Amino acid sequence: MKVDSSKALPLMEAFYTIQGEGFYTGHAAYFIRLAGCDVGCHWCDVKESWDENIHPVVSIEQLVNQAKQNANLVVVTGGEPLMWNLDTLTTALKSKGIQTNIETSGAYELSGTWDWICLSPKKTKLPTESVYKMAHELKCIIYNKHDFQFAEEQAAKVNAKAKLYLQVEWSKRHEMLPLVIEYVKNNPKWAISTQTHKYMDIP
Ligand code: SF4
Repeated sequence: MKVDSSKALPLMEAFYTIQGEGFYTGHAAYFIRLAGCDVGCHWCDVKESWDENIHPVVSIEQLVNQAKQNANLVVVTGGEPLMWNLDTLTTALKSKGIQTNIETSGAYELSGTWDWICLSPKKTKLPTESVYKMAHELKCIIYNKHDFQFAEEQAAKVNAKAKLYLQVEWSKRHEMLPLVIEYVKNNPKWAISTQTHKYMDIP
């Protein structure tokens, strides 16, 4: 799909809710879920976001106005939001006094101006250096035992100030959570991130 990201972006959904995971857990936030992702995680829980062609292209003006009506904190997510250049979107959000947070796999070069970058790297398409360097938070998903090793490899690449989180993949929570608890007790540089929105039954 050809999109002029200085004017509009493909949108899967936008909604006002509570951030359920990571550093901003518990904070009210307006989520802008952009469409499009080619990272291909087999356990992805938003596969309907992958094909940007089945979602509408929405003007940045409309995205920002709707965000402003709801909240002063926006989380841009996807899909993989960095498939699109986000300079204009974040400039427009900031011009309205809105805090800009992003959740990304980091698979594409960083664009946009961000108050908080949550990097959640995926083995299928590794992050670019630009995102490793700028991430405020590293959130590694634990689906199997090998993911602990992957998490350590990723932690070695982010900047030293980044907060480090391990988060159990939802379908594996009963099997993997006890291992994550033990791992964090033995390696306290990590903290546990839980998908609290799923327990609260909110989006
Ligand atoms: Fe799904 Fe995110 Fe993986 Fe893309 S990067 S496949 S949206 S979990």
